This record gives sequence, structure tokens and C-alpha cells, in this order.
Amino acid sequence: MANQDFLNEINKRRTFAIISHPDAGKTTITEKVLLFGNALQKAGTVKGKKSGQHAKSDWMEMEKERGISVTTSVMQFPYNDHLVNLLDTPGHEDFSEDTYRTLTAVDSCLMVIDAAKGVEARTIKLMEVTRLRDTPIITFINKLDRDTRDPIDLLDEVEDIMKIKCAPITWPIGMGKEFKGVYHLLRDETILYKTGMGHTIQEKRIIKGIDNPLLDDAIGSYAEELREMLELVKGASHEFDLQQFLSGELTPVYFGTALGNFGVDHMLDGLVEWAPKPQGRESDLGKVSSEQNKFSGFVFKIQANMDPKHRDRIAFCRIVSGKYEKGMKMHQTRIGKDVRISDALTFLAGDRALLEEAYAGDIIGLHNHGSIQIGDTFTWGEKFRFAGIPNFAPELFKRIRLKDPLKQKQLQKGLIQLSEEGAVQVFRPLVNNDLIVGAVGVLQFDVVVARLKAEYNVDAIYEHVNVSTARWIYSKDEKKLDEFRRKAEVNLALDGGDNLTYIAPTMVNLNLSRERYPDIEFHTTREH
Ligand code: GDP
Repeated sequence: MANQDFLNEINKRRTFAIISHPDAGKTTITEKVLLFGNALQKAGTVKGKKSGQHAKSDWMEMEKERGISVTTSVMQFPYNDHLVNLLDTPGHEDFSEDTYRTLTAVDSCLMVIDAAKGVEARTIKLMEVTRLRDTPIITFINKLDRDTRDPIDLLDEVEDIMKIKCAPITWPIGMGKEFKGVYHLLRDETILYKTGMGHTIQEKRIIKGIDNPLLDDAIGSYAEELREMLELVKGASHEFDLQQFLSGELTPVYFGTALGNFGVDHMLDGLVEWAPKPQGRESDLGKVSSEQNKFSGFVFKIQANMDPKHRDRIAFCRIVSGKYEKGMKMHQTRIGKDVRISDALTFLAGDRALLEEAYAGDIIGLHNHGSIQIGDTFTWGEKFRFAGIPNFAPELFKRIRLKDPLKQKQLQKGLIQLSEEGAVQVFRPLVNNDLIVGAVGVLQFDVVVARLKAEYNVDAIYEHVNVSTARWIYSKDEKKLDEFRRKAEVNLALDGGDNLTYIAPTMVNLNLSRERYPDIEFHTTREH
């Protein structure tokens, strides 16, 4: 039986990630969140941040400074009586496969929306991914210190596009230069904003009660406006409901400015109060509860060559149940081997440190010398595997070719290993010897060529290939599948794990095949 101390450790943990469109303010919120967690004395040192540019240079710089990208991948900090794990996801388009898989390792998400721009493309995509597991979503509407769109419009847009009910927890008063603060609907208090305090934790200026005359003294005619507005808001929006939040149907919404460090703490209060504690995960032998006191976890991300001196790769493992202790033995179920782990890493903000112990909900970094793959399960000895670490159908394709044709074997081996690691996907058409590389973000292509050279000693180049989308193929009907295999052979390929895929030159082609072969399932994701 699990003892109380153990359960307390689980209960106090919250593991979440931020989903947003580039520039909405994810990095800034991360800085402020860490400031509240006392993890950083003065926010602003999360990473040597780009100047408005999200391109290559950003990632390449991070790569150069290797360690830094690790420490920003996972951050753990205390907040009130809780321990929060924030999993970072790259903000730009590239490496979105990593982003997607990271979302399988969290128990809730914070959706950040730019109040001037509303719902943007990338946020929509990431929301779709969170829907695969009905992850609870908290919403922060950012940049209220600028001219924004009407808050009611913004909520309508979130409801329409994201198909999730909005329950405002705070409501903004004014905007831009006239941003006065927010009214907290559940606490019935107004929290006043003061500019120029973004680098600190502001002393709270709170006025209790919506009818308090002090409110009129503080914000003048905005007070009366707010009172009228709230009537409207209460009529037009949803009330917070914990059950609906936990099932992903409703999102609590907060307003503020990350740059001004206002509102982030209200959101954190909601996160630790309502967001789920570490949840169990499905395995092929049934659900594994986080309160089960024996260790288990799964690998959702592998980051290459983070320490140039050791050329190691770190496998990020989400603990599902039990506890990691330094020096413990783990069973790696895919290869059926026991490994003793005494050098797992933890990710206290700003540093990576050797870890003594970690609990369900935490992320540990395992040194990987090539034997760990994305989706691998580690257990205390049981032979089950966790389900649900997805591959996503790539959207970009190139044919990869060798400069020196004699090294075909090395190229193939390198590509398959890189695909097992999740760095890229590889497809081998049934009808020829092409090797087609598929990625979700363009940067993946460059990384693959660089790593093929450094780690497999092959010089490869890309060529155009007439593929625009891919789907994994399934069918319950073996006969129909065989027939499909014969008839559609020119569009079929095997991926890095030998799974049958349909590679389509155009969406039109894909849709036609779908109509023509109704017994064949075309999947946009594949689970490891
Ligand atoms: P990310 O791409 O989502 O990580 O966004 P960043 O945190 O890097 O923010 C993008 C830009 O918006 C930066 O120049 C930030 O300083 C700015 N920014 C972030 N939050 C706010 C805010 O609340 N108000 C204003 N005015 N600017 C903000």
C-alpha cells in the first residue's frame, strides 16, 4: 500500500505545458511563472532570447549552448504548497513533432492567446492534439497592456473555433494605457494593475466587493462600467465547473499582461487548485494509476547531443507511477532488459542537476547511448508498455540522396535510427529504392543532414519529391488490404518501423483513394 507521504508527493504535483502561437507570450509567461516559483530571482533569464525572430538562428544558438535548451525543456518549481512541472515546447514551427509528443506527457495545458490577435493557427493545431486525450485547458489572454479586441469577442472566438466553453475567472478593466486591472469573479475582488512592475512580484492592490466605493475612488468611471459589464458577462458566458474543466469541455479564462507580470499569478492559483494531479496512463495491460507505488514511466522525447563533451543524448521520461530513486533498477520493456540508473537528471529551473528522487508527474532525463527510443516504457519489472505516444503524419517531404552512393547501407541505418529517436520520419516506397524523409518542421531536414554527417559519416543531400502528405494504413479486412496493396502499390511505402503508409502526391489524390477504398483506414497518427 502506498503510504501517506508518498500520496502527498503525488497530490502536490502539477505537470503542464503551454500551447500558443509564436509571439503570444509563452516565453514571457514562463519567465514570470519561474519568478513566482522563486526559481529565478529576476525574471528575464530563461533563455538568451531571440529578438523577435523565430528562425534557425534561435535554435542553432541553443544548440551551440547545448545545456541551455535542456534546462528550458523541463522546469520544476514550487508554487504555494505545490510542485509544478512546466514542460516547454519550441515556439516556432519546427520540431512540432516534439511539441505534440510533449503534450502526451502533461496532465493539463495553458493556452495563451494574444488579446489583439485572438485565436491563431498554431494554437488551433495544438488544441487538436490536446483533444486526443481531452486534456484540461486553462486559458490566459495576454497583452492587455496593449490595444486589444473586445474581450467578449475573444471568448466567442475561442468557443467557436476551439469548441470549448469559456468560463471567465477574471475580467479585464480597460486596456492598453488604460488597463486598470481585473475583477476576480469567484473571489469578488478587484486587483489593480500598476505599470512598470513587470520584473518583480507586485504587491497586490485589492479592493474587496464589486460595490465597494473604494473601487470608484480607484478607477473612476470604469467602476460603473465594470458593474454593468459583469451583468452582461455573467449572462453571456459559462460558470466555472470543475468536472467540465477536467473533462476538457470548459476552460477557465484569465486576463492579464505577462510583460507587466499581472494576472500570471491568478492563473497559477487556478492551476494548482483545479488542474489534475499526475494522472495514470493506459498500457497494454490496462490502466496504470499514478498512486501505484512501483515505478513506471515512458519516454516522450529524445534530445540529441546536448553535452558536446559527452555527445550524449537525453531521453525525457515522464514518471507515470511510483518513485525514482538514485541507483534503482528499471526494466526497459521493449528490449526486455534491466538497467541500473544512477545518473538520471532533474530539471530545476536554470540548472540540470543529478537527481536523488522523483515522483509520478515528474520528468527525469536518462542518458541514452542509443538503446532508448521514443515511446519506450520503463517499469519496476512488469512487462507492460504504455500506449499513446503518437507519430504525426509529416507535412513536408524530401527525397534524400547520397553524394557517395557506396554508403547506402549507412544512410539507411542512420535514417532508421533517427526515425526511431523521433528526429525525423523515413519512408521507403514499395516500388523503388528511394528514401523519403518526412518532417513536420523544415528545420528537421537540416538537423538530419548534420547528424548523418556527424554520427554516421555520410554526406547526404535533398531533392524534390512529389509527395505532399502521408497516412498510416490499417484495415480489419486482410483481403481488402491485400487488394489495396496491389492496386495502390505506387503510392505505398514502409516507414522506419516497417508500417504501411500511403504517400500521396496531392490531397486530391488522397481523397480519391479514400473514396475508392472505403474498407481502408487512413490514419494521421500512429502510436509507437
Ligand atoms: P513566444 O514567442 O510566445 O515565446 O512570445 P514571447 O514571450 O517571446 O513574446 C513575444 C513578444 O511579445 C516579446 O517582444 C514580448 O516582450 C512581448 N510580450 C509578451 N507579453 C507581453 C505583454 O503582456 N504585453 C506586451 N506589450 N508585450 C508582451
